[in-house]
Amino acid sequence: MLYADVVLPLPLQGFYTYIIPPDLPFTVKEGSRVIVQFGKKKFYTAIVFKIYESEEKQSPIKDIVSTLEDTPIVTPLQMKFWEWVSFYYMCSLGDVYKAAVPSALKLESETHILLNSDFEALEPFTSNEQKVFFLLSPDKPFSIAEIEKKSGLSNIIPTIKSLTDKKAIYINENIQNTYTAKTQPVVRLAKQFTEEELNNILDELSRAKKQQYLLSIFLDINKSDKLITKKRLLDETSISPSVLSELVKKGFLDIYDHEISRFDYGDENMDSAYMLNIHQQKAYTEITNSFKEKETTLLYGVTSSGKTEIYIQLIKDAISKGKQVLYLLPEIALTTQITNRLKTVFGNKLAVYHSRFNDNERAETWKKLLKDDEVQVILGARSAIFLPFNKLDLIIVDEEHEGSYKQQDPAPRYNARNSAIVLANMHNAKVLLGTATPSIESYNNALSGRYGLVRLTQRHENIELPHIAVINTKELRRKKQMKSILSPPLIDKIRETLNRKEQVILFQNRRGFSSMLECKNCSWTPHCTHCDVSLTYHKYQRMLVCHYCGATYNVPTLCDECKTPTLEFLGYGTERIEEEVNTIIPEASIARMDLDTTRGKKSYEQIISKFENNETNILIGTQMISKGLDFDNVSIVGILNADNLLNYPDFRAYEKAYQLMTQVSGRAGRKNKQGLVILQTAHPEHPLIKCVRENDYESFYLAQLEERRLFRYPPFFRLISIVIRGRDESLVENTSTQLAEALKQPFGERILGPSKPAISRIQSLYIRNILLKIENNASIQKVREMINYHQSVIFTNPAFKSILLHYDVDPM
Ligand code: ADP
Ligand code: ZN
Ligand code: ZN
Repeated sequence: MLYADVVLPLPLQGFYTYIIPPDLPFTVKEGSRVIVQFGKKKFYTAIVFKIYESEEKQSPIKDIVSTLEDTPIVTPLQMKFWEWVSFYYMCSLGDVYKAAVPSALKLESETHILLNSDFEALEPFTSNEQKVFFLLSPDKPFSIAEIEKKSGLSNIIPTIKSLTDKKAIYINENIQNTYTAKTQPVVRLAKQFTEEELNNILDELSRAKKQQYLLSIFLDINKSDKLITKKRLLDETSISPSVLSELVKKGFLDIYDHEISRFDYGDENMDSAYMLNIHQQKAYTEITNSFKEKETTLLYGVTSSGKTEIYIQLIKDAISKGKQVLYLLPEIALTTQITNRLKTVFGNKLAVYHSRFNDNERAETWKKLLKDDEVQVILGARSAIFLPFNKLDLIIVDEEHEGSYKQQDPAPRYNARNSAIVLANMHNAKVLLGTATPSIESYNNALSGRYGLVRLTQRHENIELPHIAVINTKELRRKKQMKSILSPPLIDKIRETLNRKEQVILFQNRRGFSSMLECKNCSWTPHCTHCDVSLTYHKYQRMLVCHYCGATYNVPTLCDECKTPTLEFLGYGTERIEEEVNTIIPEASIARMDLDTTRGKKSYEQIISKFENNETNILIGTQMISKGLDFDNVSIVGILNADNLLNYPDFRAYEKAYQLMTQVSGRAGRKNKQGLVILQTAHPEHPLIKCVRENDYESFYLAQLEERRLFRYPPFFRLISIVIRGRDESLVENTSTQLAEALKQPFGERILGPSKPAISRIQSLYIRNILLKIENNASIQKVREMINYHQSVIFTNPAFKSILLHYDVDPM
């Protein structure tokens, strides 16, 4: 009998075994998709990991229900990588499968489907396809299970798959990612006219000047470009659509819907890469030399030193060898700026992969990588490490210090930077980590010789790094000069800047209006009823909002405790700053960029492009504005409250604060001249502020390293956080205490806790943490075995059934 061990898209440990019946539509292979039943009447797309022959009759095993295609969709290297992720990050293979593969490629009973109303059939449907297709609706999603029921058909996943391939239907996702129509109106000649006929037509139009003009421009473009969109034609001529309609009516032109792939980036133009300046050239040579000896190299290049151009050069090298490059960026830094830059150079050799593309498009990229050789550069966010590469030569991890490379929730809680290094190793590829503010871990690895180290200390065109002026807000407050969160010197500078028609960025790491409502009388503050946090006031919504679960509450007029109407707003969020700037400088045009203003699909890009075009003068934002943006008219940056950043209860707080302030500062004075940063703090003498001001990364690094050594943190120790959650607080407490006690047997004082985290209840679940600090040289295999063993012993107790437990390896 032939068996297959498969992975299901469920958080289940290990493999599940199914029989491979002889009569499936396609041959089952390792890495291919099969449809299996799991649980009552639920169907899933599983991935085959192992196929083997076995005589012994095993316990009741089900047959594989069906297959979807003849070729595997997961490569052997990917399977190996998934196994590593599941082992290292202590989660199930199913979790990795779920995170790695777009939904459209892993249909299951619970997948919801919508009809594509733009669909036009090119070939006849099978009778099953027809049945399913006519049951669907373009605006009301149905689950596959529901469709099965309504149609009376069983096992319709293969039918759903073929309809998805034909683009007749698609996977429903959240509203943000709606399916974008892929057609665009295109203008062409109504028929094949001769040269003479065309001249006659133009003459004929001499009384309709606008029509004549439009047609002549059209003919002009048509000489070089066969595909002229209606939009382009109207944009280039600035003529109204009615003129075009006239030409169509007269039978000269014709408009039709042309299908345009969102992935069509045109031809590459590798010569459009800039010539590297001498510093870049030197760094480039050092990197290529370093690659001869080291697997991983750190490029430590100050903001605006032109790291992107060096990456482009390295990508060109890989392409000329016929290889692939993966270029990773934090999600939020993946703006049109960088995409356009790479598009121009690499054209259709480029594929882009991140969450702003919908699932159907991500599935398309996956399939494209599997089948053709055209794509050689993949620009993506962290989940791009899971794509099916087959000739990977280099992984670039830009902004390597970014905490958002770590996935927090759900599992797999992987760090894409670190995983990329393992992935590269499996492919025999190199890794380049790039940043202006290296993480302590990476810089330590570079200094110790584990990684290569290349420095780039000059900004492009040798512009100086911004000057950082520190404003003592405590002093100003004492002198009663702080009338708002903007200090008088900052207000002056903003005015001067605007008078020069230059731009301003104001940074505050809190969104909302005020971070807290407090009773002047008794200090009571409203809290979320599901989470252990105070609520943030959002003035626009006139609501109190919990930033941990999103719950909203009406604003009370009386204090809950002492019943007096003495509630006041404390703290400044971006919304309140926007209001104050508006009052102080009413003539300025202001934009705000934070989580609240960027929920729409395009809003992020819109805010950026308006600022790029100088339509807005002042951009106020949270850390979102610090990421990889390159504006050329920003001469001052204000950091409104540096103290906010220093007060986090986290061993990485100073590291994050240093990185954030340096990155935000880096937005000032790019391109033509030195910029100015105004940093407001009540602690100007704080050592970290001093390091930021003097751009003294080395001192900052040494001080941090010493702390980490002293208190047993990375890079000297590895951390594994065990998170225990449940609705019943005493049960959570009880489980955690027992588990911690058990773990203390093998690990002794390496086990800390259980402790109540700073926010000890989120979404009605109580939380306890147990922290394991383990020496770097300990065997991770053994450590995992011990933890798993004690977990399974404790959880044999049926009383703990409702408790949730997960591991966070290398927590950030
Ligand atoms: P970094 O990523 O190091 O902060 P960027 O790659 O954004 O810096 O480069 C900063 C600016 O300098 C960009 O506008 C970029 O186009 C420009 N630039 C960098 N290198 C060159 C070069 N060799 N020739 C022309 N312009 C360059
Ligand atoms: Zn009160
Ligand atoms: Zn809450």
